[in-house]
Amino acid sequence: MSEERKLSDSDHRRLGQELDLFIFSDLVGSGLPLWTPRGTVLRQELDDFVQEMRDEHGYLPVTIPHITKKELYQKSGHWTKFSDDLFHIKSREGHEFAMKPMNCPHHAQIYASRPRSYRELPIRYRETTTNYRDEQTGELNGILRTRSFTQDDAHVFCREEQVVEEFLKIWTMVEKFYKTFEYSLKLRFSTRDEKTPEAYAGEPEQWDKAETELKEALTRHGVTNLEEGVGDAAFYGPKLDFLATDSLGREWQVATIQIDFAQPKGMELAYTKDDGKSERPVMIHHAIMGSIERFLAVYIEHTSGKFPVWLAPEQVRVVTLNNEAPILKLAKDVVKKARDLGLRAELDDSNESVSKKIHDSETMKIPYTLVIGEKELKSGQVEPRSRTDIKKLPVTKIDDFLSQVAAQAADRT
Ligand SMILES: [Zn+2]
Repeated sequence: MSEERKLSDSDHRRLGQELDLFIFSDLVGSGLPLWTPRGTVLRQELDDFVQEMRDEHGYLPVTIPHITKKELYQKSGHWTKFSDDLFHIKSREGHEFAMKPMNCPHHAQIYASRPRSYRELPIRYRETTTNYRDEQTGELNGILRTRSFTQDDAHVFCREEQVVEEFLKIWTMVEKFYKTFEYSLKLRFSTRDEKTPEAYAGEPEQWDKAETELKEALTRHGVTNLEEGVGDAAFYGPKLDFLATDSLGREWQVATIQIDFAQPKGMELAYTKDDGKSERPVMIHHAIMGSIERFLAVYIEHTSGKFPVWLAPEQVRVVTLNNEAPILKLAKDVVKKARDLGLRAELDDSNESVSKKIHDSETMKIPYTLVIGEKELKSGQVEPRSRTDIKKLPVTKIDDFLSQVAAQAADRT
């Protein structure tokens, strides 16, 4: 199969529609995806995975509005840097607002809302929230490049001597996450281009320091062969990008970790040291998925929409051989039992033929399909039809089958 042919079969825009994951509406506008119930399951499962790991590392959830006054971005420096990308809003009283293109300045305001002591640090905020950027129509591409995108964002405010440890914790989460999806990860260390100092906020010494801190963490982690991206840094600090290679051999930038000495200064963030003096915290920005939309665009193509059991929007489909009362009752019982175990199960009791119903289930790439008829009614056993790429389960009691699927879902396999 040629690369082109393979790509069109697994094109995320096509699969998004066929598998009923997201849609676009002319009335809402291009680049603004709307997520269906099935697509929302994917988003939620992915996000739960990320947030569970963060909870283990002491991150606390926060919530912010999606717009802000112009003044916040003037102070953070984003107003000039992002001016072309901002969606502007004018209030009835003539005040200028913008839709947020990122979350750092908002989160920094929560940090700055009261005096902080060195004892409180690190303070770790997490929030999965939608951002907005005024991308040009010609640049939009399905959910790969959109005007609204949801970041699994997090900010750590810490002391300088805590940077490396926090950085490595984030690293651990990124590695665990991407291992689950069977991507091979590569690292790119993005630094500033010293020839264009005007493109970056902060002092050169701060940059040298941030770059040193990052390299130290990398060495401690045993990394030797790093790709260096000179000039690819964020305007406020160096960053580490994770590049994933998918099943079609393409390389994508996914997670990022950024160390930031510049924004805490611009936003006048501070904490009190043990000697009573005031000091600036360091900010570490990271997103594990990056943008959920972009992550899913790549992942849908990587898997051709064949999601593992834990992630599949529908994990088990129960199909009736006919709709005689005892068969229908058993089929409904099986769906109920599955749902009681936390599984996502649906019943197909339509008047179509069994072969058509099985075909429909296969088209939707549902991991397991159960046919319920006379035989199942008599024996109390089922013969699960497994999607070709997943674990085949034997003929077994209905309860055994369901608990095996539930175990796969819980293990994220
Ligand atoms: Zn940030």
